[in-house]
Amino acid sequence: MVDGESQGGVTSLGVLVDEQGAVRFASDLIRLRTVDEPGRSSEEGATRAVVELMEGWGWRPTLVEVAPGRSNIIVDVVGGGGPGPVLAFEGHLDVVTEGDVSQWTFDPYGAQEIEGRLYGRGSADMKAGVAAMLFGVRAMELAGPFHGTVRILALVDEEGMMLGAKHAVASGALDGVTGVIVCEPEGDEVCPVSKGAVRLRVDFIGHMTHGAMPERGRNPLPALGRFLGELEELQRELQSSHGVHPHLGPTYVTPTVIEAGTAVQMNTIPATASLYIDVRSVPGVDHEELIERVITTATSAGSPDGVAAQVTVIDNRPPVETSPDDPVVTCLLDAHAAVVGEQPRLGGVPGTTDGTIFTRDAGVPTVVYGPGGKWIAHQVDEYVEAASIGRYARTYAIAARDYLTRAS
Ligand SMILES: [Zn+2]
Repeated sequence: MVDGESQGGVTSLGVLVDEQGAVRFASDLIRLRTVDEPGRSSEEGATRAVVELMEGWGWRPTLVEVAPGRSNIIVDVVGGGGPGPVLAFEGHLDVVTEGDVSQWTFDPYGAQEIEGRLYGRGSADMKAGVAAMLFGVRAMELAGPFHGTVRILALVDEEGMMLGAKHAVASGALDGVTGVIVCEPEGDEVCPVSKGAVRLRVDFIGHMTHGAMPERGRNPLPALGRFLGELEELQRELQSSHGVHPHLGPTYVTPTVIEAGTAVQMNTIPATASLYIDVRSVPGVDHEELIERVITTATSAGSPDGVAAQVTVIDNRPPVETSPDDPVVTCLLDAHAAVVGEQPRLGGVPGTTDGTIFTRDAGVPTVVYGPGGKWIAHQVDEYVEAASIGRYARTYAIAARDYLTRAS
């Protein structure tokens, strides 16, 4: 337990967080390598650690298998203070790869604490956030009865295709939830908006032939070249019609991968050429319209050469735009101000989070706010300020109590 003296006004709200326990638990999670890698992903070790912690507190978590070795953890903490809404906290247990270990100054799975910084893959993104939400809700529970219910979602595969979040919605884990706090690292910003993302593959289908007789085939490469130029134009149009969002910046239409032919067969015109596109959109950009536009543009780029175009939507995540006046946002603004002593900045998430899926598939307002820097995720020497874990736990506890009291 934390010394009550140092908490000032915060103790008057009756929130005492086991801050050292929270840091220890975050460290335990960092030591468990839960990397998202095709065919080998497993959060099992971390899942076990979270379940053990919860059961030690008398909670009764439900495990829902999403894929072999990968289970979502869902638990309801009922306040016992009368009926009220359901507020959810969410975090993911998988991490991205450490990459080239020789680039790291610290063991990516050592959870070393040096000058107040806790280092390791997943420290900021987002094992600190998971620890903070767990210890925050525990402190809230110990502080006495509250209205309604807090639901905790500790999910798998956020860094992959967000299978955990999709499965959570499909299996009813968001039913009845009126707001979700996603505990991803955002550098002390409260983020009610997130960029959207569309991932597309465009295949140009021609006809293979000998390079000496191009007139006997249909080369898909010039079509792809024309299409690339058109994409730049599409980006320019979207940027000028939707402007620069104050928290998210402009919309980007970025070609990322080209696949066509092979270098050892440079005397052959390939049958197909494929282009992958990563679109990052601001609120207001209509994804369906954008996809239609890509289809017609690709088709007309191919037609002069008799090359067909085929567009595959690999993923489609719309932007999130939760009102800054939604209680799930204002409860965090107030709690942050109470704990830190100054108003937090409102911000935006440049990528997508599990919250994107909750808003898209369950229509629930989501907000992103969690310990750790906004730009440190996925980098070498990833770290989180150890003291921020307990601070966020306190903020979560105060915000949740406030949200449930106001809405009851
Ligand atoms: Zn994350």
